[in-house]
Amino acid sequence: MNPLNHLAHIIYPPRCIICSDFLWRAPFDAGDVANYICPSCLQGFSTIEAPFCSICGTPFISDGIENHPCEDCLRTPPYFQAAYAPYRYEGPILEAVLKLKYGGKTFVAEAMGQYLAEFAEMRFMLRKPCIIMPVPLHPKRLRERGFNQSLLLAKAVAVKLNGILDFISLIRAKETIPQTTLSRTERKRNVQNAFVLKNPAGVLKKNILLVDDVSTTGNTLNECAKVLKRGGVKAVFCVTLARAVL
Ligand SMILES: [Zn+2]
Ligand SMILES: [Zn+2]
Repeated sequence: MNPLNHLAHIIYPPRCIICSDFLWRAPFDAGDVANYICPSCLQGFSTIEAPFCSICGTPFISDGIENHPCEDCLRTPPYFQAAYAPYRYEGPILEAVLKLKYGGKTFVAEAMGQYLAEFAEMRFMLRKPCIIMPVPLHPKRLRERGFNQSLLLAKAVAVKLNGILDFISLIRAKETIPQTTLSRTERKRNVQNAFVLKNPAGVLKKNILLVDDVSTTGNTLNECAKVLKRGGVKAVFCVTLARAVL
């Protein structure tokens, strides 16, 4: 940290982005979530523990069983290999995602992305070099928000995994309504054929790690995976920060 930042740090000690408590920490390295979120909020992050669906990551209620494909995934196998998230989308992690998307706390994406990279590396046998792709925003939404939170996360994931960041090939051609506001059947229809692969030659026979902030039913990830697989991609792995458990 340069001396000016160090001074600013002393005059304005950093606060937790969720509860605004002071973070009594020494000057830091930007890759650590604990620089932005206090220990008590971090403890409130609810992790998704096994057993869960080995494909879509939905946690199972019953204990003491191995991870296995859920009924939905057996009936209609998704286009992706697997889609996992470290956290349930509730409590402090929900607050943190909202701060990242709507509260101007975009700086937290770097630390969260690094964490997500470690999580993906642990869960998936990723063959290197891997192509890292964010779930794209529609150009209109991108103009309104000014940034794509998934791209911010994917960028940090790519740096950490030493992967290739590709935010050009996959585009969102159809404007969609946020999935969280819709019913299960509406969600499927909402994202259907929303994505287009612009440069299939660049991703032919490649492994893709698709990154998003939150997944609900996995329909968005599956639609992206569908377009990628039809375009000749070998395998699609998906990772999101949090997953809404319905
Ligand atoms: Zn806090
Ligand atoms: Zn499943």
